[in-house]
Amino acid sequence: MKGIEALDVIFKPRSIAVIGATPRKGTIGYQLLHNIIQYGFNGMVFPVNPNHKYIKSIKCHASVLSITDDVDLAIIAVPKEYVLKVAEQCGDKGVRALVIISAGFREVGGAGIEREEALGRLREKYGFRIIGPNCMGVINANPEVRMNGTFAPLEPQSGVLAIMTQSGALGVAILLSVAKLNLGLSYFVSVGNKIDVSGNDLLEYWADDDKTELIGLYLESFGEPRRFTQLAKRITKKKPVVLVKSGTTAAGAIAASSHTGHLSGLDIAVEALLQQCGVIRVSSIDEMMDLALAFVKNPVPRGNRVAVLTNAGGPGIMATDAIINQGLAISQLSDKTQESLAKMLPEESSVHNPVDMIASATPEQYERAMQYILEDDNVDAVIVIFVPPIMIEPREVVEKVTSASRRRGKPVFTVMMAEEHHYEELPRTITDAPPLYRYPESAVRALVDMNRHRVWCERPEGEVRRFAVASDIRDIVDGKKAAGGGYLRPDDVSRLLAAYGFPVCRAKIVSMSDDLADAAEYVGYPLVLKVFGNDIIHKSDFGGVVVGIKDAQELEEARSNVKRSLQRAEVVDQAQGLMVQEMASAGKEVILGMATDPKFGPLLMFGMGGKYVEIIKDINFRVMPVTDVDAWEMVKGIKSYPILEGVRGDQGVDIEFIVESIQRLAQLVIDFPSIVELDINPVIVTPARESCRVVDARIRVAGE
Ligand code: ADP
Ligand code: MG
Repeated sequence: MKGIEALDVIFKPRSIAVIGATPRKGTIGYQLLHNIIQYGFNGMVFPVNPNHKYIKSIKCHASVLSITDDVDLAIIAVPKEYVLKVAEQCGDKGVRALVIISAGFREVGGAGIEREEALGRLREKYGFRIIGPNCMGVINANPEVRMNGTFAPLEPQSGVLAIMTQSGALGVAILLSVAKLNLGLSYFVSVGNKIDVSGNDLLEYWADDDKTELIGLYLESFGEPRRFTQLAKRITKKKPVVLVKSGTTAAGAIAASSHTGHLSGLDIAVEALLQQCGVIRVSSIDEMMDLALAFVKNPVPRGNRVAVLTNAGGPGIMATDAIINQGLAISQLSDKTQESLAKMLPEESSVHNPVDMIASATPEQYERAMQYILEDDNVDAVIVIFVPPIMIEPREVVEKVTSASRRRGKPVFTVMMAEEHHYEELPRTITDAPPLYRYPESAVRALVDMNRHRVWCERPEGEVRRFAVASDIRDIVDGKKAAGGGYLRPDDVSRLLAAYGFPVCRAKIVSMSDDLADAAEYVGYPLVLKVFGNDIIHKSDFGGVVVGIKDAQELEEARSNVKRSLQRAEVVDQAQGLMVQEMASAGKEVILGMATDPKFGPLLMFGMGGKYVEIIKDINFRVMPVTDVDAWEMVKGIKSYPILEGVRGDQGVDIEFIVESIQRLAQLVIDFPSIVELDINPVIVTPARESCRVVDARIRVAGE
């Protein structure tokens, strides 16, 4: 059976064999069988173990082959040496799916790798769907199925959250937090070594599953990032996807010689990809749970204006700071709201946002204040803070806040600084209470992420533009590729970029000793003289670039200076020649680039350019495909964007030109997969597109 429906044999089996079940408490084999029975699996279960006749009053089979009924799913928890044999028996029995808990496969190396390969061959032979090996199992909490095929000592509630984890140990931690927060699950899957079913398969399965409204992922690595991108783009607009991904920095960095290569790294690719497909990345399981709680209990805000209601100054200020620092806005409450609040609150209160009702605030005052604030059209979300004074019961406040928030269609986040037992008790007993947090920052963080989700849902798809390209340039790249690859000559770089519509500088290549008159006449003064060579990455580092040359005499002097500088830096033999180049008009320097990641494919980069790019690092990356919307976001997303727009009487530059250039670069990169590194630094951008110029570029082609 192929396709996604095939996963039903794992998640909706009619019968399960637990192979390796034992009567000994405290073992995985015991807990698995126990969980299936205890959770109330709505199907048949068959313990399998040759050493026992019955377990927990149920007949135990010596092998799966001695079961007379059909078996849909086998959960396997036998010592690693027996897994292959048991799997083979499952195949002969006609079992369609395996969840392999046993460890001792690829993750241990050596013989484990061979064992996993042999398991792969059995999968081919019998057409199983497999979860694992080396995992902690699966749960389908749907009341019609009720399958707890894990060995976690818990009984998860049924709900709308689907969880996929690549780490079994963290899986247990996640299940514990889910239980503690009173959240309900639709599915839980620990994928282990992913010999068959991957995170992507599960995403696809959950995309159309009507029980699942929210997806939480814990990932250590991406199997197929491109498929993930496609899937996630489709799903995230319907169901929020929250991801915890451990970051890789230096280890995954791409070693390459140019700017883009130096600045990129695996985590940058991950970050770019997640942004482009609307996945919300959080940094810890805690944060994931905070956000899951928010999504499950709250509607998504319709805007970013937040009101804060508190009975204590300090936490109110903390909340307000967090709101502003994280890019949300503090609502301007309407006059009507402020008047209503003033009428009911003591004089010492503050009726401006943040609304401080002071310590005497009663549950009733919380209720009425919430009503006024939620009615205000200037408010999209409310953070309500309660620090319990001695006379007031937290429960009463939460009850009043809950009744005021009902059917308002606006998200409310309760922050309560109270005794520990309340955090579990209140959500359990007041089931429709707004989500409850311990600190203002965690509430605000969850709200920020919800708002990001709203922005993503409202964001247009965008399209990938195609531009006309002069046709005679394929040879440049293909020829280099056939010749073993390497950096293109500067004149070839210019031709290639010009064919894709980049405004390259007029230039002539000359040798170190050629007469310069013709070149200078062709280019025209003022001009620039620079050295070039494959190994010379930063020409200006040793005086290899002279700008603003006004006449023949200055040009000769510049050449002598460049030669002298090369000698001083002892790089004379690296110089392959000189370039006499048109001098671009003054403008802002930006960088456009591309690096390839073995898994993620080409990464495009945009940022503030020039000599300081590595220091300032104000850059943005995107994976393919890059749409017009992506290109705009890339440009608007850098910190220096206001500089491009023009500040303090400074004229802004042609931003549309930049956005279009990014899309042209994307097309070039797609058209030539053999280009593995490309760096345009700088493009000098000016207020008018006619005078924008590419002044320096490097392109490296991979060999055949
Ligand atoms: P490199 O990056 O190898 O040091 P560049 O060719 O990028 O060499 O030149 C360094 C700097 O010199 C550029 O960032 C730019 O400020 C200036 N420059 C270089 N070529 C030109 C040009 N044709 N017109 C105007 N400025 C230029
Ligand atoms: Mg440069």
